Amino acid sequence: MIHEKKIAPKFFDAIRDGTKKMEFRQEDDCVYLLGDIINLREWNGESYSGREIDVRVIHIVRHDDFQAVPKGWAILSIALIKTPFWKCCECGRIIGDHEWASRGRTDEDHICEDCFWKIMKSDDDPCGTIGPKAIQ
Ligand SMILES: [Zn+2]
Repeated sequence: MIHEKKIAPKFFDAIRDGTKKMEFRQEDDCVYLLGDIINLREWNGESYSGREIDVRVIHIVRHDDFQAVPKGWAILSIALIKTPFWKCCECGRIIGDHEWASRGRTDEDHICEDCFWKIMKSDDDPCGTIGPKAIQ
C-alpha cells in the first residue's frame, strides 16, 4: 500500500540525495509492511512545499525485534524509488518528477514552476516553449 506522510525539509533533502536511508515512524494510524511505498511530502510545519518523493520499505525493526525500539514505533529501512529528473528548458535547473509545472513544445521539454509563472505573467514566450500541453 501507499502511505502519504509529511517530512521536514532537511530530512526530505537527505533522502532525496541518497544519504538518509531510514525512517523512524510511529505506527499510530497505519502499519508498515515490507514492500509498501511511502509518499513523503515536504512539510515545513505550516504548509506543503509541493515537493514529494517516493520510497519503498525494504526492512522493518519493531519492539518485538529489538526492545530498545519503543512499542508502536518502527525503524524502516527505505530505498529511494528513482523518479525521472528533468532539466528546466528555460533556466536549466534540475527538477523532480513531481515538480515540473508544464511541458514545453515536446514531451522532453519541461518547465519549472518559477519559469512557468514568469512566462505566464510576462505574457510572452521567448523560447516558444509553452505549447498546447501547458499545465498538467
Ligand atoms: Zn526554470
